Amino acid sequence: MAIPKILIVDDRPENLLALEGLLEPFNVELIKANSGEEALAHTLDHDFALILLDVQMPGMDGYEVAELMRGNKKNKHIPIIFVTAASKAPSHIFRGYESGAVDYLLKPLIPVMFQSKVGVFIELYEQKEALREKTQEFDRKLVELEELQQQLEETNEQLLLLSTTDGLTGLFNRRRFDEVLNEEWKRGIRSQQPLSFIILDIDHFKAYNDTYGHQAGDDCLREVARTLASVPLREMDKIARIGGEEFAIILPETDREGVMLAAERIRESIDELNIPHSSSLSHQHLTISVGVSTVVPDLAFSSRKLLEAADDALYEAKRRGRNCCCSTEVINQAVNL
Ligand code: GH3
Ligand code: MG
Ligand code: MG
Repeated sequence: MAIPKILIVDDRPENLLALEGLLEPFNVELIKANSGEEALAHTLDHDFALILLDVQMPGMDGYEVAELMRGNKKNKHIPIIFVTAASKAPSHIFRGYESGAVDYLLKPLIPVMFQSKVGVFIELYEQKEALREKTQEFDRKLVELEELQQQLEETNEQLLLLSTTDGLTGLFNRRRFDEVLNEEWKRGIRSQQPLSFIILDIDHFKAYNDTYGHQAGDDCLREVARTLASVPLREMDKIARIGGEEFAIILPETDREGVMLAAERIRESIDELNIPHSSSLSHQHLTISVGVSTVVPDLAFSSRKLLEAADDALYEAKRRGRNCCCSTEVINQAVNL
């Protein structure tokens, strides 16, 4: 904390010296002025803990100085003590208080009394300053806290995004896919609407990696993902990457015919990309095989049934020569290809 400053104002140098002597025991910085004008000028440059002001001075007297100081927002709260040899008449003292003094001391000053009064004002000033510093520190901490909170929220959002999306393609990941499937399964049980599921797998992708390298394989996966995402589906249909080169789409309230149309559209869109795949055993370009399943969700069995049925259909599509779609419908737990 800065050392408190006291302004002493008196037109007579010997009075200033006497005040200086009395203030010796205090750890304060003294600023001296020998006129009212000079005193006002100092209040522009300093922040005072206390002003000791002589009343009778040539030019501006102490009362005028005090009134001018009170009129200024910055100086309004600085305590002023009048130090004067003037009349002890009560009216004189009242004038001093009216002009804003907090105390009124008569010369000759009694050192013990004077020093105890000054001591109280210095202590008050120090308390006020300590409070101001604490408030400032508190405000700074509050701003820091708000920034930290903001960062925490952003990190949480990023974490949520990372925990639900696939890093390579930006599609939903397996974890989010399982959640969505679970939600849709429950909804299907309530609505008794058919729930459909598409699983698609890139054909001979191991050979693609072996021929073009892993990096090209990754680029290809991203392109397939982009294409899947651009196929017009309904808002409620959700696409995910559920394995290395396997993708899945959940289509709520969609029957077998509807999902087959979507599946065929998807197969075609990849086919039309015409990505060269010279080592494919079935075609000369990149293709996918698609398995589709449809079921009206039932409490009697789990959503796993839907996945298993789509897997069976995918296996069938591979068996039939790839680059095609096969569908299954689960009725009373029996899978009908
Ligand atoms: P099929 O037509 O029967 O599906 O043959 P396939 O070669 O596609 O199937 P297989 O399961 O034998 O191989 C899948 C390959 O997918 C293995 C691996 O090289 C590749 N793969 C899986 N994940 C990634 C990945 O994240 N990046 C890249 N570049 N390749 C991957
Ligand atoms: Mg596979
Ligand atoms: Mg494959």
